Amino acid sequence: MPIKKEAQPKFSIIAPVFNEHECLSEFYSRICSVMDMTHSSWELVFVDDGSTDGSTDLIRALAKKDKRVQPVIFARNFGHQIAVTAGMDYSRGQAVVVIDADLQDPPEVILDLIAKWKEGYQVIYAVRRRREGESWFKLFSASLFYRLIYRITDVKIPLDTGDFRLLDRKIVNIMGSMRERHRFLRGMASWVGFRQIGVEYDRKERFAGQTKYPFSKMLKLALNAVTSFSYFPLQLATYIGFIAAGLSILSIPIVILLRIAFHEAFLGQATTLIAVLFLGGVQLICMGILGEYIGRIYDEVKGRPLYVVSEPASKEQTR
Ligand code: UDP
Ligand code: MG
Repeated sequence: MPIKKEAQPKFSIIAPVFNEHECLSEFYSRICSVMDMTHSSWELVFVDDGSTDGSTDLIRALAKKDKRVQPVIFARNFGHQIAVTAGMDYSRGQAVVVIDADLQDPPEVILDLIAKWKEGYQVIYAVRRRREGESWFKLFSASLFYRLIYRITDVKIPLDTGDFRLLDRKIVNIMGSMRERHRFLRGMASWVGFRQIGVEYDRKERFAGQTKYPFSKMLKLALNAVTSFSYFPLQLATYIGFIAAGLSILSIPIVILLRIAFHEAFLGQATTLIAVLFLGGVQLICMGILGEYIGRIYDEVKGRPLYVVSEPASKEQTR
């Protein structure tokens, strides 16, 4: 890992940034006042995920003024989960806090997370008790998403938790060695194990600007979560196959009986067409599901780095 020269700070705060210039100064000062209360050394790793609104220059300026600020600037937008991954790769603290830069996760909650870490927990995730200022659609889709993931995945991912959490160095190192590219970090943290606990908090409104998670990105994250931690969609094809085959086997004697006993013939055309179209549709959906998994295998096999950084410039610009 590139930055390793100076003494290891006690805490690392990782904030992914994608076009958040209106939030950055306020975020920085809130983090400073909270972290100074800990009387421990800390660093703030800003991962600039290809911002185009001047956030990059703001981060550079903050880093120039304050040596505790570590800028990691991406060569383009790689997405939130990858930005957090890069932050973890570049972080050096004994405990690492992942927090959004838009102040929806109040920095003051970090003190509660740290208290639990000192009690001996390795993963302390922040559970959303209430969410303010978000559309009903976001609340509904998020709630549905958390419950669906909980039901069908093999690892138990706690409900109503985002990426706002504290991770012990041990966990960060293990997650850093998991280089899968379609990442669902919450699931990966649950998968690692050790002692994990939740701390409740009220999620606030965005300080400024709009969400950087449009529906398409949310859908992508949901698909990554499902495919990374469950074979259920693949097994679905088997279940549907058994049901369809079972029904058609059952219908053979019924049709023969009706024909012999009651001389009733099925007027076939419409029923046949509907059956053919229905099964054709089911088959295409199953092929699509297969395709989702095969595409992901292909991405893994290519073995590309997860991201490319333009700063800090070093020999190792990809990881
Ligand atoms: N973000 C990012 N890359 C992206 C999208 C978002 O680094 O492609 C950052 C964003 O700047 C913010 C955090 O991830 O700090 C959470 O994003 P956002 O607040 O837009 O998501 P929401 O809270 O609406 O789910
Ligand atoms: Mg937000």
